[in-house]
Amino acid sequence: MKIRRLSVRLFLSYLVLLLVTVGVLWAGTLLSLPGAYGRQMHSSAPMMGGGMGPWQGGGQEADPASETGIPQYANIRSIVSEAFTYALLAALGVAVLLSLLVSRRLAAPLKAMTQASRRISEGRYNERVPAAGSDELGQMAESFNQMAGALEQVEAMRRQLIGDVTHELRTPLTTIKGSMEGLMDGVLPATADTYQQIHQEAGRLSRLVDDLQELSRVEARTYALDIRPLEVSRLVDSVVRRLSRSYEGKGVALTSSLPPGGLSILADEDRILQVLINLAGNALQYTPQGGRVEILAAGREQEVDISVRDNGIGIPPGHIGHIFTRFYRVDKSRSRQHGGGSGIGLTIARHLVEAQGGTIRAESAGEGQGSAFTVTLKRA
Ligand code: ADP
Repeated sequence: MKIRRLSVRLFLSYLVLLLVTVGVLWAGTLLSLPGAYGRQMHSSAPMMGGGMGPWQGGGQEADPASETGIPQYANIRSIVSEAFTYALLAALGVAVLLSLLVSRRLAAPLKAMTQASRRISEGRYNERVPAAGSDELGQMAESFNQMAGALEQVEAMRRQLIGDVTHELRTPLTTIKGSMEGLMDGVLPATADTYQQIHQEAGRLSRLVDDLQELSRVEARTYALDIRPLEVSRLVDSVVRRLSRSYEGKGVALTSSLPPGGLSILADEDRILQVLINLAGNALQYTPQGGRVEILAAGREQEVDISVRDNGIGIPPGHIGHIFTRFYRVDKSRSRQHGGGSGIGLTIARHLVEAQGGTIRAESAGEGQGSAFTVTLKRA
């Protein structure tokens, strides 16, 4: 049977220690008694008839008991004391040894954790401690390893983020710097086109900074949610109203199709609008002129699906699993060409939907086949 609780293990260790010590004391006393008896006999023999021998006691005033061969009380005491002293030394030795073993076994995982945490604080995040059984110490080692794993992941994400942000900042900065140098050297003509290009890149930088700020806000969950029943048709109308100008401007049709009878979801109005506008905005971005985008809703028993479906450029199969990862773009040049951003929008959308207890997924039959993004939320 496995002993799971540290307190039980400690109690049993002390009990075993006590029993072994008492046993050694007992056995040691019994084993040393004959020797002690012999030595006392031996040391008393020359004094027979005159000294203070164990069988004779007080010399002239001979103990009557010595005549019968029964030792005196004082002699018994010396024999027992001697035997007991040896046994006590042996028991103490065994007790010290056992205590050392037990305390080392108990302290070893704690020591390992202290050393590992020191190494982690020095930046060695791959540090782990060995599994230490199934008691509280074992659980502590397991939690420690989980914590170390989480720290390692955060550190890896931090590095990745810095790398990604640096990369994202560099591209527009290089373009702006190159254009400015061209203008100064007279290589580039000082036309409206050149200035517009610079302005566009500066706009990209500013959008990136805004997106990063929003991403850090949603990742840290430093915003309040006001979850309440919301009518889906009202939300969809709002999205259509806000985006109709941009859709008309590009020549893409935006329609909605909702089931009759009304449908309500449990969500935060501002946040769900932000998500739907982002999805409909992406659909517009990745759908060529003359294309079509439709917002659909369907209710199930407990949930409601709201989908944004387009017949645009689509997403190649291998990419679907990654597009919710920050900075991921199916094809950077394709994204730029379509006026796309830095690949943060869908990451923010996923965080927002999940914070409201929902899920978001993407589907596409492949390149050129259009895409559909579906948000699933609790039905009110
Ligand atoms: P971005 O700001 O670059 O659009 P998102 O996070 O919104 O970033 O989207 C990530 C990537 O997913 C985009 O770069 C694009 O490649 C792809 N994507 C998103 N929506 C669509 C869509 N409706 N059709 C095709 N591809 C899409």
